[in-house]
Amino acid sequence: MKKIIDSHLHILRWGDKDFISCFDEYVEKSNVHALNICSVPMSFSNVCNNIILGFYKIARPNTYIHGGIEFIYIPMDNMPKEMDAAAQYRELMEIGFDGIKMLEGKPTEHKRIGKNLNHPEFNKLYSEMEKDGTQLLMHVNDPDEFWDPERAPEWAVKNGWAYLDGTYASYEEIHKQTVKILEEYPNLHLTLAHFFFCSKEPMILERLFALYPNFCVDLTPGGEMYVEFEKNYEYYKDFFNKYSDRLIFGTDRSYLGDEEYAKWLFNVVTTFIGTDKTVKSFDNKELRGLGLSQEKVDNIFYANFERRVGKCPKPINKEKFKSYIEKYSFALTDEDKERIKPLIEKYL
Ligand SMILES: [Zn+2]
Repeated sequence: MKKIIDSHLHILRWGDKDFISCFDEYVEKSNVHALNICSVPMSFSNVCNNIILGFYKIARPNTYIHGGIEFIYIPMDNMPKEMDAAAQYRELMEIGFDGIKMLEGKPTEHKRIGKNLNHPEFNKLYSEMEKDGTQLLMHVNDPDEFWDPERAPEWAVKNGWAYLDGTYASYEEIHKQTVKILEEYPNLHLTLAHFFFCSKEPMILERLFALYPNFCVDLTPGGEMYVEFEKNYEYYKDFFNKYSDRLIFGTDRSYLGDEEYAKWLFNVVTTFIGTDKTVKSFDNKELRGLGLSQEKVDNIFYANFERRVGKCPKPINKEKFKSYIEKYSFALTDEDKERIKPLIEKYL
């Protein structure tokens, strides 16, 4: 059995069962060695998303966690100094988070925060993270068809992810801002989720890989990526061979997501990366596995992630975690507070 770290998952909300055990079955049945759960305090919940992950890690210590920056005051220029992005980053690192996840480049969040990705507030964060060598996992943009009334898929429209009314930054604009982060912080350990939505223009990634030694992308679908991999199979076979040290496995599975779909997706992605067998892919056509060497499969499945984030997850500092909960409790809903109370008693 191959060793796998799933580098990109979420626990979006509390849910109605015990969230601590939500991925146990996945870990056991799929023989996944470790998980990296990413907080997105943004549109999905609030600062309690970071708190959920802190408790999860105390209960399941073999878990990596990436924290998110919470913007309690919008516009973000109004954040008090002790809660600016860099200050929140330091707090999360002291608690025992292993990296930072940003969703601020997804068009909906980009619009909500009202600041581009090169805002000085973010720059302070990138600068510290570059110095520390901490991984920044960012979701920026979305598939380019989400901006096109002819091609936007129905499920994206339903989710509010079709950017057709002119109030969202364009694909090109967000793309440009993202590349600028690398230009200004060339050694940042930046990982862009979903292949940076560049599967139709992979030359862009080839160029960025050549320029920035610590830049990686993850392989979480975006089903459209896997359709492109299949259409340009020979090109991508070379690409995966050449850049196996820049590609990171993940599923984007989430607690309260569709379990059956997640199982199917895991099978498609692991078959493609880890074997030479064929599997029915996102367009219902046959996708042929890449037939990579064991060393290259290992790079993608876990070794790149371990090199970036560490061989083992950091432990939680309970004192720092307690102070964090106290500091941000003013931003929690009554329901969150009720949920957190018994967890404090049990785990802190
Ligand atoms: Zn995600």
